[in-house]
Amino acid sequence: MAATFIFSGFVKAVDPKGGAYKIQEYFTAFHLTFLSSYYSSIAFAIALSTLEFWIGASLLLGIRRRTSTTLVLLMMALLTPLTLFLAVFNPVSDCGCFGDALVLTNWQTFWKNIVLLIAAISVFLGRYLIVPFISNSLQWLFSLYSIFYSLVLAVYCYTNLPIIDFRPYHKGVNIVQAMSIPKGAKQPVYRTDLIYKKNGVKKTFTIDNYPKDDSWTFVDSKNVLIEKGYEPPINDFSLQDETTGADSTQQLLHERNYVFLLIANRLDVASDEDLDLINDAYDYAKANGYPFFCVTSSPEKYIAQWRDRTGAEYPFLLADEVVLKTIIRSNPGLVLLHNGTVINKWNHANIPDLSEQKKSLDKLPIGVMHEDNQLKTIAQCVGWFFIPLIVLLWLDILVVKRKFRKRKKFNINPLIYNKMRKNIVAGNWKMNKTLQEGIDLVKDLNAVLADAKPNCDVVICTPFIHLASVTPIVDKKIGVGAENCADKEKGAFTGEVSAAMVASTGAKYVILGHSERRAYYHETSEMLKTKVELALANGLTPIFCVGEKLDEREAGKQDEVVGSQLKDALFDLSVEDFSKLIIAYEPVWAIGTGKTATGEQAEDVHAFIRKTIADKYGKEVANNTSILYGGSCKPSNAKELFAKPDIDGGLIGGAALKAEDFKGIIDAFN
Ligand code: PEP
Repeated sequence: MAATFIFSGFVKAVDPKGGAYKIQEYFTAFHLTFLSSYYSSIAFAIALSTLEFWIGASLLLGIRRRTSTTLVLLMMALLTPLTLFLAVFNPVSDCGCFGDALVLTNWQTFWKNIVLLIAAISVFLGRYLIVPFISNSLQWLFSLYSIFYSLVLAVYCYTNLPIIDFRPYHKGVNIVQAMSIPKGAKQPVYRTDLIYKKNGVKKTFTIDNYPKDDSWTFVDSKNVLIEKGYEPPINDFSLQDETTGADSTQQLLHERNYVFLLIANRLDVASDEDLDLINDAYDYAKANGYPFFCVTSSPEKYIAQWRDRTGAEYPFLLADEVVLKTIIRSNPGLVLLHNGTVINKWNHANIPDLSEQKKSLDKLPIGVMHEDNQLKTIAQCVGWFFIPLIVLLWLDILVVKRKFRKRKKFNINPLIYNKMRKNIVAGNWKMNKTLQEGIDLVKDLNAVLADAKPNCDVVICTPFIHLASVTPIVDKKIGVGAENCADKEKGAFTGEVSAAMVASTGAKYVILGHSERRAYYHETSEMLKTKVELALANGLTPIFCVGEKLDEREAGKQDEVVGSQLKDALFDLSVEDFSKLIIAYEPVWAIGTGKTATGEQAEDVHAFIRKTIADKYGKEVANNTSILYGGSCKPSNAKELFAKPDIDGGLIGGAALKAEDFKGIIDAFN
């Protein structure tokens, strides 16, 4: 998917005028001529190439996963039916999806789009499994660079000529050879249809069965192509003298001298900004005996206007507009031929200054053919894209990721020296406190923690309605989180609050999978899996709760229960995403009951959780995951619990509702 979009965006950026011509063809075919002005088509072509390139680059690097996969899906959902329409009704000859670099028939394009649509659905559904190569904080820079790269390329090719010429008139091509059909090449097969009429009714016959009696009258005959033969790369190059109407093609192609062709597909809109360069080139050609023609598809009226406007003295030839647009992407542009071979081409702005030139063309570099080395150009383009990217990646690894690692190191728990993970005390207010009471509690917390230097991260998780009021007033030592979020992104889900909404309040955490939500609101692992993905996608840190019920503990099934809760909801996450989680072990029988698990009971399950994580994601991830204990944790028992090697803090319910009690638990780390 990434390679296809990068390729498609790149070849369009290389030839923005070609893209604009194709877009104009579409607008005309769909009767949208009011949109098909030259400049709007150019803008559209450049925007499309940039969008495709950005999508491809984002998919390749795993950045902006939600936006890029949504755009890919939208584009394919739109393009697939459109290309089916093109294949059935043929309003344009080829869809132009890969410019001139790879021309597909309309049916080939449709089947290609079916494959891409399936791929688009799969990347969209699996978007959170795409591994990002770059830290979140630097993704904008990579995004900006791919947009910048594609835009600069398109603008450069627009103001010059395409840096890679995919068309049959590229430098080095001998037009005579490119027009010839090799001996023994496959010939096209035609069927002759004969149309006869009898009693006012027309009927079509073939050579084998046409009627021989006089009651039928012959009307018409048609040759119908039934099998294509060899098609030479150039099959429509034809030039006519403007004044006599004589065919000048062969004469010009077999001219042994140099020939200048000023190609202006439409003189009425041709640029006259570089007239001096054009007229100097004409004077030079005349002085050195080189034929110089202007080739156009414009009628006499515009030729006369051009002569008036520019003082042109050179003769004019007529040719088909599409052929001229194919020869050179500049109106006007200058082409130098020698013995039927394309020696050089210039956009009107880059025509060499020949005003003072005395030497003949064979002694000048512009008269010697330097065939474009397309492989070298492609290698340069790849280099211009990847070398800055590699530098940025290196910066990311060296600066951003290193800083992140350092920050983690700084948070070493002084009680347990070999721990790299954070200690956290998080409050869960549940369905308590009106808005006013909640604000008062936050003020109390700010006050009690004003001079404190907690040895752990402090978080309060409040009902949804408190979030937006609490985040601006809470002390910056305290993080804020929600107690839940929806398992849907957005839409008609009355009463639900999405992860994006939570994040928009400034909250940074969200409790997911709390036993009360599992028990009373029937939240399943499937739902929780989606909630976790959505929370992560919106930059929230999930505090994911697991824990067994009393009967399960009595049956000794705590490890089994906790293990499957972890695996079912979390173990499809990538290592990077899993590393962002906080786990909370909360035995259901201990929540709000006053019955705390003993330090040993809690430590056993915490150690089991860490081992389960290590088995799945490796020791490093397991050692860096904070696992909190929850269930009737109070200032009086917090120290004993938090001293256990695998307990990294607490998720606190009842005791989080009073600032002093909550502070008492935080102090257990001091
Ligand atoms: C909780 O609900 O997460 C919790 C641990 O509650 P309590 O501390 O009241 O047991």
